[in-house]
Amino acid sequence: MYAVYILKCNDNSYYTGLTNDLDKRIWQHDTGFFPECYTFKRRPLKLVWVTIIETAAEANNLERRIKGWSREKKEALINDDIEELKRLSNYKKKTHEALRQAQGQIDYLIIGQGISGTWLSYYLQKANKTFLVIDNNQLNSASRIAAGLISPVTGRRIVKAWMINEFLAFVVPAYEEFGNELGIKTIEQKSLIDFHPTPQMKLAFDERLKENAEFLFQPKDQQLYAGSFNYDFGFGEVDPCYVVNLSDVMEAWRKKLLSDNHLLEEDFEIDKLQQTEKGVNYKNIKAEKIIFCDGISSAQNPFFKALPFALNKGEAILFESAGIPSTHIFKKGMMLTAVQDDLYWIGSNYLWEFPDDRPTEQFRRQTELHLKNWLKAPFRIVDHKASVRPANIERRPFVGLHPVYKNIGILNGMGTKGCSLAPFFARQLTEHLISGEEILPEADIKRFTRILMR
Ligand SMILES: Cc1cc2nc3c(=O)[nH]c(=O)nc-3n(C[C@H](O)[C@H](O)[C@H](O)COP(=O)(O)OP(=O)(O)OC[C@H]3O[C@@H](n4cnc5c(N)ncnc54)[C@H](O)[C@@H]3O)c2cc1C
Repeated sequence: MYAVYILKCNDNSYYTGLTNDLDKRIWQHDTGFFPECYTFKRRPLKLVWVTIIETAAEANNLERRIKGWSREKKEALINDDIEELKRLSNYKKKTHEALRQAQGQIDYLIIGQGISGTWLSYYLQKANKTFLVIDNNQLNSASRIAAGLISPVTGRRIVKAWMINEFLAFVVPAYEEFGNELGIKTIEQKSLIDFHPTPQMKLAFDERLKENAEFLFQPKDQQLYAGSFNYDFGFGEVDPCYVVNLSDVMEAWRKKLLSDNHLLEEDFEIDKLQQTEKGVNYKNIKAEKIIFCDGISSAQNPFFKALPFALNKGEAILFESAGIPSTHIFKKGMMLTAVQDDLYWIGSNYLWEFPDDRPTEQFRRQTELHLKNWLKAPFRIVDHKASVRPANIERRPFVGLHPVYKNIGILNGMGTKGCSLAPFFARQLTEHLISGEEILPEADIKRFTRILMR
């Protein structure tokens, strides 16, 4: 048996949770047992609603749905006001219905508003195309967990990342333009201070320096960060790197889509998709083409599941600390970057086999120990997140139209590099859709024609 419950916090906000031992969980909330929990700083708390559910899957589903509800709707549930609950549900349904009706015939239906769907809809709008985005606002989608880093080098040998010069030349001005249009700061240039975790890694860095590798530098003053960090084998510097403010980029674009009536916030149900002579029908939307930008969901999609996805789970921790310079990105095995004043992101791990997409105790313990050894200042963990990257075996994106179903396309497979790949390939896909421009062969799904035709 599982309990889904709602607590009222001392700042009047609501917290929705799920447990298989309600008494113990309430005690944990009340005593502040989990310092990183949302309720920790908002005690005292009051249990205002609870329901018992038999299966974990149903309980999970209900918890997720309530978490997405408005405050008004949560209060109708707490007050057992069924009429109001129905009214609010119908209101949302009617708004959605009206939006669908109003859309009638559109050029493109886009599924997913992660970083891929954001950029694709941005470029389609610039090209004056009509479109609708459907996104279910999944709280732990990859784009909502990522740090937003773009590094020009990669791997243990610190080699130049694939096509990085072309990507940087395109994406940096693209993010800046996006930010200017929406009035937000989207991207910041920072260098990466790479603390060598072992003598072997120092050697690898020094070897690359000897080869005059682009982007790598050796700062003279190796004591520069000794006030903030413990390190035994020195550090190198990677410059330039960039940090994309992903949460602001996606939230500003979500608001813009909503205000332009271009976004439906709901689950897309693939069994309701029909292909017609002129395009596709979905419920009462008629579109010339549908493009899937739905991250890991595409690995289950009947049209694209044959693509060689190699989904990969990653976790990250948010912690508070003082005394870490926010002027750089830091790395020692893991990446560390400032999110806002005194709040930092550290991650990540790469798991190819995983039972679910939840944060693991093992990562939390390892990261906590790593921070204890690495940082000079005390720290406090405030959140722990996990997500699954839409990665693939080749480490190249999946872009283009299906070789058989010409009205069905995909922009996906961004792996660990969504921030640099998504804008570039969203633009290529837009030009391909509008004027038939070629997509880069390494990214075009044409390379999988044989397996997609099976
Ligand atoms: C811990 C971690 C750290 C990372 N750090 C970085 C980094 O620093 N830099 C970097 O470049 N990349 C990073 N990545 C990788 C990056 O997150 C991904 O490459 C990128 O976010 C993929 O974006 P996407 O839009 O293709 O997919 P997603 O972000 O998964 O977006 C898919 C969207 O589709 C929606 N959706 C899915 N199914 C449905 C459905 N049935 N109905 C309606 N909507 C649906 C989801 O809600 C979501 O909004 C990181 C990933 C992880 C996990």
